[in-house]
Amino acid sequence: MNIVKNLVSPSLYYCKCPYSMNPTRIVVHNTANDASARNEIQYMINNRNEVSYHYAVDDKEIVQGIPENRNAWHAGDGGNGLGNRQGIAIEICYSKSGGARFDAAEALAAKFIAYKLKEKGWGIAQVTKHQDYSNKYCPHRTLDKGWQRFLNMIQAELGQTTQSSPSTPSAPNTSSGEKYSTGTPICTNTLSVNCNGTGKVYTGDWSGTIGRVIKGAKYPYRVDRNGVAIGWTNNTGIDTDPHTPGGSQTQAVQTVLNSVPSDFIRESATFYPNITLKIRKAPTEKGIDTGLYYSNGMSVRYDGYVKREGFVWISWISASTGERRWMKAGVLNSKGYNTNPYGRFI
Ligand SMILES: [Zn+2]
Repeated sequence: MNIVKNLVSPSLYYCKCPYSMNPTRIVVHNTANDASARNEIQYMINNRNEVSYHYAVDDKEIVQGIPENRNAWHAGDGGNGLGNRQGIAIEICYSKSGGARFDAAEALAAKFIAYKLKEKGWGIAQVTKHQDYSNKYCPHRTLDKGWQRFLNMIQAELGQTTQSSPSTPSAPNTSSGEKYSTGTPICTNTLSVNCNGTGKVYTGDWSGTIGRVIKGAKYPYRVDRNGVAIGWTNNTGIDTDPHTPGGSQTQAVQTVLNSVPSDFIRESATFYPNITLKIRKAPTEKGIDTGLYYSNGMSVRYDGYVKREGFVWISWISASTGERRWMKAGVLNSKGYNTNPYGRFI
């Protein structure tokens, strides 16, 4: 595939793509602009804004601005977000006015994404959209026209059978077997601490509302209660006859999953501090000091983070007490990115 390269100068990596990246997904965007791919990339690599993306695609060509082994700032999910740290960002041009130019750009993007999936041995589940990572309605025109329709275009390029398009555009649960949609009240007997099932999975009895659906994930439904995410579940865990949960095990597991605030962002990774950092019981400088700390040479496996008081606070469940613990892991810049971490995230 012919790809025009106009890569950002390494002297601007600190701003545009500060982290090395091992990509795990595609993140699709619309530019909400009427500029060509060349102009989008030229503008992006020349300014000093912490906004970046790997590719822009218009009706004629694909232009690359950031190497695929560097991260980019596009998904709105923060300095440690899966979108920003593991996603190959693809901007589809001419979405502001739409029309034939946009349709052709979308068609070329579908062809290009199919090519990338083949190259990396990925499937259609690796094609995600900006909206999956933050509340932004992006890729706006692609969503208006139908997200499943766009996935079908990619699958057609791959020579795969496609699913019928939903009657409402971009319904959240129309593929990969997700039966429930956001806002559905449910009960479940299974809660995973993250959507991919790599962390702890609990059995018990919980009620809540589906707060988010991540298509193709092992545990695609985020269960919310009173606006607070309590875990992730799947089709087999969900009880279609909602009831009032009971039992002591419920209490015990809720304690384990306790106090996850609504701004909590799930992320399973390991942090290696390079300075000594206090472990607290809440994500605030006023949080109770446990008297314990992590320091250089140690590491902590965490399951998510919040941004509070100008810092990113990582969090995990203490193995010894079963309580949630918090620790500052970096200073946020004015845009809310963790540009000054107190160590390495791996
Ligand atoms: Zn976007």
